[in-house]
Amino acid sequence: MSESLQIVCPHCQTTNRVRSDQLASAPDCGSCKKALFDGHPAALDEAAFDKHIGRNQIPVLVDFWAPWCGPCRMMAPAYEKAAAQLEPQMRVAKVNTEEAQNLGARFNIRSIPTLALFVGGREVARQPGAMTNPADIVRWARSQLPG
Ligand SMILES: [Zn+2]
Repeated sequence: MSESLQIVCPHCQTTNRVRSDQLASAPDCGSCKKALFDGHPAALDEAAFDKHIGRNQIPVLVDFWAPWCGPCRMMAPAYEKAAAQLEPQMRVAKVNTEEAQNLGARFNIRSIPTLALFVGGREVARQPGAMTNPADIVRWARSQLPG
């Protein structure tokens, strides 16, 4: 028997229930029919962020970035590649702190880029600074998972 997990759709933010043994079988969203995992970081505004952090029953990795930040742009291609490797065990997301300024303040993001890992609605790890090697991002994220 496999457990059922709540997975928030990165496209329409609907909460889906997916059996854990179906995660890797390219599940679609029951609402918008798009892939729940498409190998790309999900761009989240504040409302979407709260849904993903609060409802996802898989860890959520978030890149806090901004368009004017050179190191953030350098990290973006590596983060894309890392997303493809970390899904579907993790939701990989990004927050544009210029658009979602509240979130930067709420989480006291002092420098960008900053990676933060959320499990069960709680931040469990944070790493400021650009990582430009996908393997470093994957290794860091996996090593921060509790238990
Ligand atoms: Zn959807």
